[in-house]
Amino acid sequence: MVAAHASDLSPELRSERVPLEHAAGWRLAHTLRADQDQPPFPRSTRDGFACRAVEVNTHRELKIAGSIHAGQPPAERLPPESAWEIMTGAAVPEGADCVAMIEHVERTFDAIRLVRPRRLESGENIVPQGAEARAGDEVLAAGTRLGPQHIALAAACGYAEVQVYRRPRVAILTTGDELVPVSSAPAPGQIRNSNGVMLASLVERAGGQPWILPAAADNDRALNEALREAVTADMALISGGVSAGKFDLVEPALVKLGAKFHFTGVRIQPGKPLVFGELTHRSTKKMFFGLPGNPISSAATFLLFGSRVLGALAGDAHAGPRFALARLARDVKGKTDLTRFVPSFCDFDPMAGELPEVKTLQSQGSGDLASFSRANCFLVVPEGIDHLRAGTAARILLI
Ligand code: AMP
Ligand code: MG
Repeated sequence: MVAAHASDLSPELRSERVPLEHAAGWRLAHTLRADQDQPPFPRSTRDGFACRAVEVNTHRELKIAGSIHAGQPPAERLPPESAWEIMTGAAVPEGADCVAMIEHVERTFDAIRLVRPRRLESGENIVPQGAEARAGDEVLAAGTRLGPQHIALAAACGYAEVQVYRRPRVAILTTGDELVPVSSAPAPGQIRNSNGVMLASLVERAGGQPWILPAAADNDRALNEALREAVTADMALISGGVSAGKFDLVEPALVKLGAKFHFTGVRIQPGKPLVFGELTHRSTKKMFFGLPGNPISSAATFLLFGSRVLGALAGDAHAGPRFALARLARDVKGKTDLTRFVPSFCDFDPMAGELPEVKTLQSQGSGDLASFSRANCFLVVPEGIDHLRAGTAARILLI
């Protein structure tokens, strides 16, 4: 349902210019083209001797005609029966069609000879000019979410700045009379507001621009005011106040503002009370999630559901929960009526041919941040499964 509603949203198309070094995580608003051939000259991939394969394969001596290192302009044409000393990254002189590795030649004072029985193919250890990209080629499509690999390419093509789409602004409204700011010392009965910053980091990572609102108290007036503010953003995440308790006032407050609910509960644990709906603000549809306040429930429901809507707003087709397969280290119990998401640690360094191993963590429940901080995934125990056995493969939701 979330995916279907998310697909109705139009992605952000306003763009801005940012320096390349700050562009990680942003979506490119234009195609990126190679400004010159890549590599711009035939590049040696080894330290050694540029030569002709037919000559060097005779295992006769080739005279060293010169030497070139990375950064020097291309050398003159290679004379017959000779080799040019060359370093990795340097331009291969015209006439040479391979580079013999330094480890594979015997060198005398002014000549080299390929050691027997080695042979070289034409083209070996050389990347031809333009083999990676031709000047003018599209190397990145508009819409690409820029990761380190894209940033390196943009840099190689001379883009000191790039035009990127604005990141959707996500209001983060935490609720609860018990909450105090992170920098305050909680009085008896109070706790620090950890969800605000946790959700902000999740939003940031998913390509949004978090906007943390002051925490709202558990009363109609405070909630009403805070929600009015929250819907001015592109999307709202409300934490707490959606369970069945006496002071869970978020739903009624949303109703008062004219919200339409798509669902008010999910068969998952943690996260059962999750609420998903929309509100119209200045004739724009704004989606919101009411996330259960327990930190681990908030994290799981954002990863499973919130990230999809944010991805749709950001125009990121690949956004949403990321799953993988892992092998269970221990038996795990399931529930008949709920899909469980159990905070777990997966060792992502498997032996060849094996699945990585995942271990569920001991925990005091959905508020146990000390245990959660040791998790890097949630083990998924599908609804109706009574028991997953150690040694079998299971799905994990990556954090
Ligand atoms: P609620 O969903 O409001 O019933 O809250 C469920 C549990 O999560 C309670 O133990 C709350 O104290 C805790 N909680 C709610 N909001 C936050 C928050 N922003 N940071 C940390 N814990 C919270
Ligand atoms: Mg509460």
